[in-house]
Amino acid sequence: MARNGSFLGETAQLVGAVGRAMGMTLRNFFRRPVTVRYPTVKRVYPDRFRGILALTYDKDTGEENCIGCRLCEFICPPQVIKVEMLKAEKRNWAKTFTLELYACEFCELCVQVCPTDAIIMLKTFDLATADRRELLLDKDRLHALGLQHEPSWATGNRLRDMQAPPKPVRAEGKAAGKAEPAEPAE
Ligand code: SF4
Ligand code: SF4
Repeated sequence: MARNGSFLGETAQLVGAVGRAMGMTLRNFFRRPVTVRYPTVKRVYPDRFRGILALTYDKDTGEENCIGCRLCEFICPPQVIKVEMLKAEKRNWAKTFTLELYACEFCELCVQVCPTDAIIMLKTFDLATADRRELLLDKDRLHALGLQHEPSWATGNRLRDMQAPPKPVRAEGKAAGKAEPAEPAE
């Protein structure tokens, strides 16, 4: 008799569990999907999305922004950047610039230290390939990617400004055009 009781109890538990699972399935069946049909449909990424890396040109002069200073090379933890500097009279250039994207950690340190906003991150990750060699990016490829995709909000100068200590209140008052207290008359 006791065995019968435990059998009925276990069966009731099993039926209850199956019922709860089916209920959950039914609820999800009528929910709006959270996925999109990529790549036909692409999500709009937030401004601060940080994806693959690229090099930039100066919008006004059309010149390459990179001055070959190699700061990005020195800061990169997995050492995937290699830069050769070309010294010139008015400014320096990157003679060669390579980035092994397949070993990049996407830590963004290279962007943070770049003095000329030459290296940036893009609002895309769309570079999937079955061939690792395609992820060894040279200077031309990095510039082409920069023209092809939307840049992330973050540039070296913006990130440094954001991290700088806040300006003193007095200086802010001046910037807002507030009058300084008048000197007492002698
Ligand atoms: S994001 Fe980080 S790991 Fe990738 S290249 Fe820049 S510094 Fe190196
Ligand atoms: S990308 Fe920026 S940090 Fe790297 S070498 Fe060029 S100027 Fe220097």
